[in-house]
Amino acid sequence: MTDRRNEADVTVRRLPWPAGANRPLVSPLQPSVVYVAADPDALDAQYGGGVRGYAYAREGHPNADALAAMIDALEGTAGGIVTGAGMAAVGLVMLGLLEAGDHVVGGDQLYGRSLAMLGQELPRLGIATSLASPSDAAAVEAALRPETRLVLVEVVSNPTLRVADLAGIAALARARGILLAVDNTFTTPRGLRPFEHGADLVIHSVTKLLAGHSDATLGYVAARDPAVAARLRTAAATWGLTPAPFDCWLAERGLLSFPLRHERASANAAALADHLAGLPEILRVVYPGRADHPDRELAARLLGGRAGNMLAFEIAGGRAAANRLVHAAPALAFAPTLGDISTTLSHPATSSHRAMTPAARAAVGVSEGFFRVSVGVEDIGALAQAFTAAVAAAAGQGG
Ligand SMILES: *Cc1c(COP(=O)(O)O)cnc(C)c1O
Repeated sequence: MTDRRNEADVTVRRLPWPAGANRPLVSPLQPSVVYVAADPDALDAQYGGGVRGYAYAREGHPNADALAAMIDALEGTAGGIVTGAGMAAVGLVMLGLLEAGDHVVGGDQLYGRSLAMLGQELPRLGIATSLASPSDAAAVEAALRPETRLVLVEVVSNPTLRVADLAGIAALARARGILLAVDNTFTTPRGLRPFEHGADLVIHSVTKLLAGHSDATLGYVAARDPAVAARLRTAAATWGLTPAPFDCWLAERGLLSFPLRHERASANAAALADHLAGLPEILRVVYPGRADHPDRELAARLLGGRAGNMLAFEIAGGRAAANRLVHAAPALAFAPTLGDISTTLSHPATSSHRAMTPAARAAVGVSEGFFRVSVGVEDIGALAQAFTAAVAAAAGQGG
């Protein structure tokens, strides 16, 4: 039945990639899932670890390794692993290093999904968890048990921007042989490099400041001990937590401008925090670089004056005023993320902290008038003007 005359015309084959004497300046995007080996001996040598190469993208690919090496250099480490999301990096640490019967202590103001992992997922797997304030090393010590294997903290907490007592917690963990994992997403290696402060593991949501353009969802984890890193690499391939090449390629492009973006956004945040504090409608401003921040000394010591691009503020008037503020600020994207090149506003009471009771929210200082701001790289004059107008409209004076 089949007409075979045109078979030659419709057969399409892959041909070898053209070789050339020059290398491209920009990393090529390599979407290939599989890699062609010369013969079984060559593949055997590769899997045996004697020869470097790729076999299957879930086990590793050049775009992930290129990105990992760039983040490694920022964190002052080697052998970091890029994952398919920041949460995949947090999950990889748990799935790769813990077992039933172990206990984990987490900071009590971790990223919302990290809290959900500790609160719901790990207990389901037989891993017990506790929370403690990372600003208080004595509280962390009180939460430790003989079976505690890991402590997970963020240097600056979300959204109230409290600063962790990293030195105190690192000393506790080191004395007991407990792994200290630091999620450095908020602070970034330009604020602090956790390996220089006693961390055993460093985690990032690359999605945020490192990639910086809200177009790639990725994570990163590095371990001080190469044996731990090797276990994580195997677990990432087994649980399928590895990233897509295109996302890595986009993030590499974004990362190239990270130092410039961070410098500008941090300067903007410091100036905007002072500007907001001067507006009569603002009840309070939270910025670790300001003299009125509860952890200012810790912040100055740990971050060396680099207080970062995140701030928070509170207005009066409840939900109605919060709605008016967002409506009056079309240039400030109301979007539950951080680290974008442009300024974004988030409202923890209806997003990250919505599962809490109003009383529990009030206890951590998150009211209906509380906003978190991820400051971007815009002109500071225009930013200050946009906030002045939005805050006035929220108070019912012009909107
Ligand atoms: C966003 C975020 C995560 C999760 O990262 P995703 O890339 O969204 O999965 C983890 N930790 C912190 C501190 C974050 O801000």
